[in-house]
This record gives sequence, structure tokens and C-alpha cells, in this order.
Amino acid sequence: MSTSEWVREPLHPDYGQSLKVEEVLYDSNTDHQRLRVIRNDRFGRILTLDDVVQTTEGDNFIYHEMLTHVPILAHGAAERVLIIGGGDGGMAREVLKHASVKHVTMVEIDAGVVEFSKGFLPELSQGAFDDPRLNLVINDGALFMKETADKFDVIIVDSTDPIGPGEVLFTDTFYGHAKRALTEGGILVTQNGVPFMQGDELTNTMRAFQALFADATCYMATIPTYAGGPMAFGWGTDGDARHVTVEELQTRFAAAKLTPDYYTPEVHKGAFALPGYVLKLMP
Ligand code: SAM
Repeated sequence: MSTSEWVREPLHPDYGQSLKVEEVLYDSNTDHQRLRVIRNDRFGRILTLDDVVQTTEGDNFIYHEMLTHVPILAHGAAERVLIIGGGDGGMAREVLKHASVKHVTMVEIDAGVVEFSKGFLPELSQGAFDDPRLNLVINDGALFMKETADKFDVIIVDSTDPIGPGEVLFTDTFYGHAKRALTEGGILVTQNGVPFMQGDELTNTMRAFQALFADATCYMATIPTYAGGPMAFGWGTDGDARHVTVEELQTRFAAAKLTPDYYTPEVHKGAFALPGYVLKLMP
């Protein structure tokens, strides 16, 4: 691909972002999907799977901080964390910053994503794959969820969109198995798309969560390269972790000694305040 070319993301039939390609660092098919790593002057190195932006060096911090620090600090005593997907290693990077977390299981379907992210996107994982607390499992997350007897305090679904291998991770069956794998007061959070563009995705997940959890809602953050507006993160738990006070979050945040570029206790609490068009997507 010449350096004057642009890649257009095919996620939506009538809207999409284009990213200028300064350099193609990798472009090939794994056993499951087309994997590309390109470089763009504004966002740095970018991982795409089947031409859909997965993560970028430039803005991944927003997504990874909000899908980890929100449930872990809200829980307050999370020791065992499960990540479904997350092959680039960014989610594991942020989870492992919590000294209170003793064990992380990461179930990624595509070994190619892990291997190529280690090599071409080391800034994403920043050594997470070498952390002794991390147990990397190459498997379909839906199968793992169905078969595991393990229990987790926080389960994070960091999957692709519900197309291709990611589709099974947006089903009632999968959510039911995830619920069974949560400890008392455990929290399930999910990458749930950009509601302005993918409203059905959120409605479907919330319908399943309402049937499973006492507290079923979502929270939001805007990640520039997840085009079309703020992204929703599904939130399901039978506990009252969502109602932790901002003062308690400030105490936990200080004790965790994190230095995030997006997360703050105030942003955490504010992220659950949903705009009207998102509330209308709730079943
Ligand atoms: N942040 C991205 C997003 O919001 O779309 C997700 C990034 S991460 C690279 C997505 C990962 O989910 C990929 O590595 C993909 O291989 C993995 N994945 C997709 N379907 C899966 C499945 N059924 N089980 C486990 N991992 C899966």
C-alpha cells in the first residue's frame, strides 16, 4: 500500500472513518481474521482486524483505563480477573497495574493477535504478557466461559464487534455462563459498541443483563477511533458496587497509586450518567 493511501473502516454501511496510512507494518491473515498493523501520524501504530480499528497507540488509554479501573476500583477487593479477548495486551496492562489483583486469566481466540501485538505493538502490552500473574489461554471465550469452574471478581469482555469470532460473545448464553463464573458481588463489564451507530448491540446486551443481574446498566467514554460518538460499556452485577461514593473511590484510587491519563474518580461516577438517546435504548 503506497503511503498516500487511506484505509476506510467498513463497520457501518453509511458512515465511516478513514485513516491515512503512513506505513504498513504488517498485513496478513491469521487463522481467524485479517490482521493489519498500520502507522498513522496522529494515532501512531494501529491494529485492525478485518479492517476494523481495534486499538491505537494514541487513544487506547481511554478504553483500557475505563474498562479496568471502573470495575476494579468499584469492587474494592478484586483479586481474580478474567479478560475475554484483549489480544493486544492493553487490557492486561491496565489490570496488572492493580497490586491487589493476584491472578489474571486472559482468553484470546487468536494466537496471531497476541504474537503480532507483542512484536508490532509493544507499547500496548508494555510487558504484561511477561507478568507472572497472567495466565494466557488461547481458546474461544464462549467455550471457556461454558466450561470453566473458576470464579472471578471482575470479568472484562474486550472483544471485537459482534461479527465473525466475536459474535458468540454477545449472546444470552455467554452472559449466563459469565454470571455463573462471578464471585459474590462480582462485576461483568463489556465492550458494547458506539450506541449512536450500534444501538441494537446495547439494547440486546441490556436485555440479557436485566434478566441476569440486579444492577444492569452501562457507562460511557469517548474514544476517538471508535467512530460515531461515545462508546458504551455494559455493566452487570448483583452487588452495589456502582453506588460506591466518589470519596471512597478517591481513597481507593490514591491507595492504588495509578497514574492514568483518562480515569479519575469523578469521571468514573460521571460515566454512569447516561444521555437521553442511550436511556431510550434500554429495554
Ligand atoms: N478494543 C477493541 C474493540 O473495542 O473492538 C477490541 C480489541 S481486542 C484486539 C479484540 C480481541 O477479541 C481480538 O484479539 C480478537 O481475536 C478477540 N476475539 C474475538 N472473538 C473472540 C472469541 N470468541 N473468544 C476470544 N477472543 C475473541
